[in-house]
Amino acid sequence: MDNPLYDNTHRAFLQALLASQTLTFPQAQTLLAKVQTAADPSRPVPPNDILREEFTSYITALNEAISPFDFEIRSTIHQIRTGEEVWALVNVQSDGVTQMATHLGVEELGFLRRVLDRMFETNNTQAREVMAVTGQEALQCARVGSGRESGVGATQGEESQARVVCITQVQAEKVLAGLVKEGWFEESRKGWYSLSPRALMELRGWLVDTYNDPPDEDGEEDEEEARHQNIKFCAACKGIVTVGQRCPQLACAARLHDHCVGKMWAAQGRREECPSCKKEWKEPGMVGEKAARRGRPSAGAGAARPSNGRRRTSGMNTDGAADEESSDD
Ligand SMILES: [Zn+2]
Ligand SMILES: [Zn+2]
Repeated sequence: MDNPLYDNTHRAFLQALLASQTLTFPQAQTLLAKVQTAADPSRPVPPNDILREEFTSYITALNEAISPFDFEIRSTIHQIRTGEEVWALVNVQSDGVTQMATHLGVEELGFLRRVLDRMFETNNTQAREVMAVTGQEALQCARVGSGRESGVGATQGEESQARVVCITQVQAEKVLAGLVKEGWFEESRKGWYSLSPRALMELRGWLVDTYNDPPDEDGEEDEEEARHQNIKFCAACKGIVTVGQRCPQLACAARLHDHCVGKMWAAQGRREECPSCKKEWKEPGMVGEKAARRGRPSAGAGAARPSNGRRRTSGMNTDGAADEESSDD
C-alpha cells in the first residue's frame, strides 16, 4: 500500500483485530504498544502512552483501507458491561445470519435460526422481554419444531425447500461453543446466551427485517399504537436494546440502555419521564435475562449447558458486569 500513513503497525493491528473479533480501548492500548514496540524495539512503548487520538487515527486509517472490501470497524457500548466501548470489524454488506456462520451446513444454520427465533420471538413477548436463551433452551432448538422454520437465508429459496433436519445435541453444543468463541454469542454466568455487541452491529438490518413488521405506508412508526415490534431501539442512542430498561407502561415501546438513562434525563431537562408516552419512568421493567426471573424460572440453566461452551476468547464474556447486580436472587 502506498499510503505513508498505513504501515506495518496498521497491518499487525488489523490482524490482531481479525483474531480477537472485538476490542476495548485498554485492549487496543496493549496491542498497539506491542505492535509499535515490535516495529522499533529500540523504543519500547508502554500501553498507557497510546492515547485515544492515536487509536482513533489507526481506526480511521484502517477503515479507509478496508472499506473497498465492504468492511468497517465500528464501535458500540456494551449493554451488560455498562459504559464499556467495544470496537468490532463489521461486514457492511452483511447478508444476515449466514454471515455469522459461513462454515455451517444447512442443518446447522437451521438450528441457529431456531435459536434466534427463540431469542427474539418466543422469549421476547410483551410480558417478558428476555431476548436471550438458556443453554437448555438452545439445545432444545436442535430439534425441529421450536422456531418459525422459514428457511435460513432470506435469499436462498432452495434452503426452504430442503427438508428441515434436526441436528444432534453434540452438534448443537459445538455450534453454540463456536458462536461464543467467534464472538457472535455471549454466554452469561447464569448460562444465558445472547447476541454480542458485534453481532448486534452486524445483524442490525437483518434483525429488523426478520423480526419486525414493516413500517406503515407513511413510513412512520405510530407510537400510540400498541403494536408489538420484536426489535426495539434505545430512545437515547438509537441502538438495539437487548439488555436495559423498558417503559413502565407495558404497551409503550420506549426502551433505554442502562448506560443511556442518565443522558436521557439530562436531555429532557432532568425530567425522568418516558420520552415517548411522557409517563413517569418509575420502577421501569427490565429487558434481558433479568426479565426472565419474574416469570418462569430458567429451569437450571447450568444443567444443560454445553460442556464445551465454557471456553472463551480474550476475556470477551459477559461475566464481569452482570455480577454487580446478580446477588438479588
Ligand atoms: Zn442507548
Ligand atoms: Zn412510555
